[in-house]
Amino acid sequence: MHTDLVAALDIGGTKIAGALVDGDGRIHTRTQRATPAREDGETVMRAVEEVLAELSASPLWSRAEALGIGSAGPVDASAGTVSPVNVPGWRGYPLVERVRAATGGDLPVELIGDGVAITAAEHWQGAARGHDNALCMVVSTGVGGGLVLGGRLHPGPTGNAGHIGHISVDLDGELCPCGSRGCVEGLSSGPNIARRALEQGWLPGPDGDTSAVAVAAAARAGDPVAVAAFERAAQALAAGIAATATLVEIDIAVIGGGVGKAGDVLFAPLRKALAHYATLSFVQRLTVAPAQMGTDAGLVGAAAAALARRPGAAAAGV
Ligand SMILES: [Zn+2]
Repeated sequence: MHTDLVAALDIGGTKIAGALVDGDGRIHTRTQRATPAREDGETVMRAVEEVLAELSASPLWSRAEALGIGSAGPVDASAGTVSPVNVPGWRGYPLVERVRAATGGDLPVELIGDGVAITAAEHWQGAARGHDNALCMVVSTGVGGGLVLGGRLHPGPTGNAGHIGHISVDLDGELCPCGSRGCVEGLSSGPNIARRALEQGWLPGPDGDTSAVAVAAAARAGDPVAVAAFERAAQALAAGIAATATLVEIDIAVIGGGVGKAGDVLFAPLRKALAHYATLSFVQRLTVAPAQMGTDAGLVGAAAAALARRPGAAAAGV
């Protein structure tokens, strides 16, 4: 058993969470703040500093050997900066430098994007455990992801590799906010599933809920328009997953996030569509599985990145 601890930060548009995590992935101390996402950059940073101050007040803090940050993207791990879409006050924000300053400058700091963090968590302790080549995805408000290749996390030079939501699967498709066309995200994210269902004539129930969760419930009850909206999303995911598998030979795609929780409504058409897109012999064994890590995935993944960063690491197998 490893007793070394690392500190972990999970920074998103809604919350900033911090924890001390041991070498077995157990969370020992945890704290959280709401992200003041609409405020200026320094106000957001103060919330991060408050989280760090609470962590460093723990008697366990002195055992922390490194600090990992998983942040909403885009991030630039090589520059140590972040520009989260949902936090406009941070554009090219020097998060690594500021976190280092807030913690006294002693700890090595590792920055990765949130999709990569979730991938690290699923590979370490979740559905991708034991898989040397995996794609892990978060399908919710947006579509993010990360890659494990050759048994190791593959964040890429800037920490954004595996960004499957912005692979184009429809050459002349709709313009995406990223600037491209026909992206997976535009067809498969929760809001886009709901939008498509409504456009095709789906009517919400008496509670007026028009979210993808409500569309999933309607699909489960047999509503053909809701079923078709999920089939369309599954088709786009399948095309993106098949492209990834064909390029880098992954053998599993793990799907988390709110849409990933839809169950068979998503996974049944997804498996069917994969058979149509993943056709070459070396990708035919590709499987898809729901994510296993819960809401702590971001923290556990940031911890995994920090553990890998420690001098002489490799113990975490990430
Ligand atoms: Zn896009």
